[in-house]
Amino acid sequence: MTHQRIALVTGANKGIGLEIARQLAQHGVTVLIGARDAARAAAAVADLAAQGLTVQSLAIDLDDHASIAAAARTIDARYGRLDILVNNAGIVDGADGPPSLAGPDAVRRIMDTNFIGTLAVTQAMLPLLRKAPAARIVNLSSSLASLTLNGDPASPYYDARLIGYNASKAAVNMLTVQLAQELRGSAVVVNAVSPGYVRTDLTGHRGFMSAEEGARLPVHYALLAGHDAVSGTFVEASGVTPW
Ligand code: NAP
Repeated sequence: MTHQRIALVTGANKGIGLEIARQLAQHGVTVLIGARDAARAAAAVADLAAQGLTVQSLAIDLDDHASIAAAARTIDARYGRLDILVNNAGIVDGADGPPSLAGPDAVRRIMDTNFIGTLAVTQAMLPLLRKAPAARIVNLSSSLASLTLNGDPASPYYDARLIGYNASKAAVNMLTVQLAQELRGSAVVVNAVSPGYVRTDLTGHRGFMSAEEGARLPVHYALLAGHDAVSGTFVEASGVTPW
């Protein structure tokens, strides 16, 4: 019998997260729809159920660390392990902006959710991931996180100055690199994936890709095969992204 993989996708009630959940379920993975709002979670579960996909919701709010601990306890009680963690939940903030103008409170909110929340979820799930035979962590990053591209006048990202959002995803990249080093030699691999510019609520439905297309690379990294799978990389659809 093949091993039944268990996946948690945070922020899976809409956007790229919902499509990651859909595609993982289509691959036969048991998917937990992580969501902070019960009604929105139920709507996502119903959406997927209408396609014949069985998924379950799991309450988890990146800004509420008690909910993160409770989610880990629930997964432990139900499955005793976690094979795939997709750190997808994230925010932007209208008061973010270039370094000279961004509201410090907005920057703090973004850092709290996108970085501290992601770190807290990862820490809470790590003992469960260590119990899986070949665990995968996928951190949703952004090309906007690249220090190299931010500093390159030839890059399309050169003028995209959102100090809060870009710094929060650069911090997620640092988490990816350092955690990969800590986990070297273990069966847990971790990568940072930039999904592309995707039409979701986060982008005001601007972008070059549908959510379904934006989910493909994160799903690929969630399903990486082999004990020697690549770890500690930062990738986008066209290949490796410079840090
Ligand atoms: P989205 O449509 O706005 O969805 C964001 C998801 O995160 C929602 O489910 C939202 O839940 C959830 N979320 C926000 N704060 C949360 C919290 N504190 N606790 C739990 N869940 C929370 O955004 P998206 O475009 O799909 O983005 C998904 C990820 O991809 C994000 O990390 C984003 O930074 C990254 N990304 C997106 C793009 C793009 O072009 N769209 C590009 C690069 C990277 P609610 O419905 O409850 O708000």
